[in-house]
Amino acid sequence: MTLTPRQAAVRSLAAKATTGERVSIPEESITETYGAFVFNEAAQRKFLPGNVYKKLRRTINQGETLDPSIADSVANAMKNWAVSHGATHYSHWFQPMTGSTAEKQDSFITPTGTGTAILEFSGKELTQGEPDASSLPSGGIRVTFEARGYTAWDPLSPAFLRHSPNGVTLTIPTAFCSWTGDALDTKTPLLRSNAALDVQARRVLDLISEPGEAPVERVYTNVGAEQEFFLIDRELFYLRPDLMACGRTLFGAAPPKGQEQDDHYFATTPGRVMAFMQDLERRLWQLGIPIKTRHNEVAPAQYEMAPIFESVTVACDHNMLMMDLLHEVARVHGLKCLLHEKPYRGLNGSGKHNNYSVGTDQGHNLLDPGTNPHDNLRFMIFLTALIAAVDKHQDLLRSTVASAGNDHRLGAHEAPPAIISIFMGSDLQGVIEALISGSDQAKLEGGKLHLGVSSLPYLPRDTTDRNRTSPFAFTGNKFEFRAPGSSQSLAYPNYVLNTILAESLEIMAEQIEALPGAERKSGGVQNIIRKTLTQHQRILFPGDNYADAWTAEAEKRGLLNLRDTPSALGVLNTPKNVALFAKYDVLSEREWLSRTAIVSESYMEKLRVEARVAVDMAATLFLPAGLRAQHKTADSLSAARGACKGLNLEVQINHLTKIANLISALQESIDLLRERIANPPAEDDPVAASKLLAAGLIPAMAQLRGVVDSLETLVADDLWPVPKYRELITVH
Ligand code: ADP
Ligand code: MG
Repeated sequence: MTLTPRQAAVRSLAAKATTGERVSIPEESITETYGAFVFNEAAQRKFLPGNVYKKLRRTINQGETLDPSIADSVANAMKNWAVSHGATHYSHWFQPMTGSTAEKQDSFITPTGTGTAILEFSGKELTQGEPDASSLPSGGIRVTFEARGYTAWDPLSPAFLRHSPNGVTLTIPTAFCSWTGDALDTKTPLLRSNAALDVQARRVLDLISEPGEAPVERVYTNVGAEQEFFLIDRELFYLRPDLMACGRTLFGAAPPKGQEQDDHYFATTPGRVMAFMQDLERRLWQLGIPIKTRHNEVAPAQYEMAPIFESVTVACDHNMLMMDLLHEVARVHGLKCLLHEKPYRGLNGSGKHNNYSVGTDQGHNLLDPGTNPHDNLRFMIFLTALIAAVDKHQDLLRSTVASAGNDHRLGAHEAPPAIISIFMGSDLQGVIEALISGSDQAKLEGGKLHLGVSSLPYLPRDTTDRNRTSPFAFTGNKFEFRAPGSSQSLAYPNYVLNTILAESLEIMAEQIEALPGAERKSGGVQNIIRKTLTQHQRILFPGDNYADAWTAEAEKRGLLNLRDTPSALGVLNTPKNVALFAKYDVLSEREWLSRTAIVSESYMEKLRVEARVAVDMAATLFLPAGLRAQHKTADSLSAARGACKGLNLEVQINHLTKIANLISALQESIDLLRERIANPPAEDDPVAASKLLAAGLIPAMAQLRGVVDSLETLVADDLWPVPKYRELITVH
């Protein structure tokens, strides 16, 4: 019997399950190779002249502006280091508004005119690049000027080496902007938001510092990203046009066994997957990405890996790089990594928890309650500021996780709802409620609470009860923002968090500054905290975020419930948001408005691609499969009739009728979707257009899927043209 491609691919699954055992463990220890491919402090010390090294470190550690006179020397050292590892090229690596990374590569080679060549890399080439930006999204900013874009070296994020089979490339993290200085990427606003937060946070810290306390020189954000993903066998992947074009299945009947038994979470990782993870970890460590955790996730064939937290820009760069490597290493292992938020209907989707805290150059975590009253006070101010910020800017935070992919996940009882709220844990919730009610004494389970004027709450550490349903949960000394989608860049959520926190801190700083000196020490600050918490307490929710009751309760509280991307985008371009980003020099009005346009466009493009792929698969794969099934059933009926007159063939006729009806329904659904693709709503405003487009395409795709999925359960297995769910989720 000749096997169909699907059957052949499924057959080879078992054989491939053994490849995991063939990966050999490298000779070098992790500590020997950690950071080997990063131009890190050790490499800088080795390759740079002493005075240049010191200046560069000051830029990296204290955020001092880079002295342009050392650029040539740094570039030369970087090149020598890279060439010593076999590099021939360098690239400016950036994060345009496509949501992924981009780069332009050049070789170091410079012909000398005598038929020979030398390798060169100048300070100018290091600090600035000019990629042709005309094909990258700008939301209309660039067309009014010119197509040129500039990349600018970000010395805070270390350069690294990318190895490909036939060469090595020195990769330089950069920011990307237009020649007028407009940001065209996600990193520029992130860097700017860090600066804004630093200024306002230090302002508050200075106001409440104790006599003799050393001033804080720098405040910055730390982020740890938990990355979820699915793996599937690569051969099966290539048999699914929907996975190839959209990253998710547009069709597929529910498998007989899905995640009902909860037997995948934290279970033993299959050998082939373990081999993949171990290979990936080695490569991540070599790139200085401190990957730490690995485990099975809830859905079959779903996994999670998380690094140790790092400063926000490095953490975001590292997460982008890690997503690249997930794809690259999966290929080597005959697997395909799916980063889509919802590859399979009926199985949990994938997210990326963004663990966020605020640190100082002195090593303090300002979101750590600490053990003494002074630490407590600092903590309470930063906590209060963040609570106020999240309440005031729910719209912004919601928008940072809005995407076509995440729309399938948020609010689907597997991920937080689209309603933004904060979970504090019962002890802190108690502290906050006692503060608000103004009670002088209150008992807490984790410890005593004094709310007298001179003594501040004793805040117990590590009393973080778990509430996995909350979108924004306090977890001991950080907040975990759980709504981001698995495929997205974390730059946007974090520049929003930094900016809204900066604003909130500034508001509190102004109130503290207005206090008479004596009151600053005697309870005035506590009153400001109390007032702010009272004003924003509606955002705190300790209960089950998946429950329907919460939706009703949230509405009563006046919280936003922006269910899908078009709704989330619809509230973005307000004077409040324009003014916020402009005030803190994070994004100008033009830059901000361009972003909504870009996100809407990309959302619509994703929908259009999905709709086209759905029509194509239905018309050229599933309809023919249905016709073949009908033919075979009809043949079998006539044969039976011919072989034996008077047989009762009613059940078989019913079967044939069902198939025939589904074929008609299929053709109708294809026609409907085709028609909607061909006649998109006429609307110029991108946000309004995305709402209309979604309203037309999404229901038509759902109708089509319903028919195809029913057909899948009727058609003979050997006639079904694409791998089924039960096969896609099998990786052993
Ligand atoms: P869990 O699944 O329990 O949330 P994980 O260990 O999977 O925990 O991930 C927690 C993430 O939070 C890690 O990336 C960790 O480094 C990060 N993290 C821990 N402390 C902080 C902090 N102070 N600031 C930011 N991130 C942190
Ligand atoms: Mg977590």
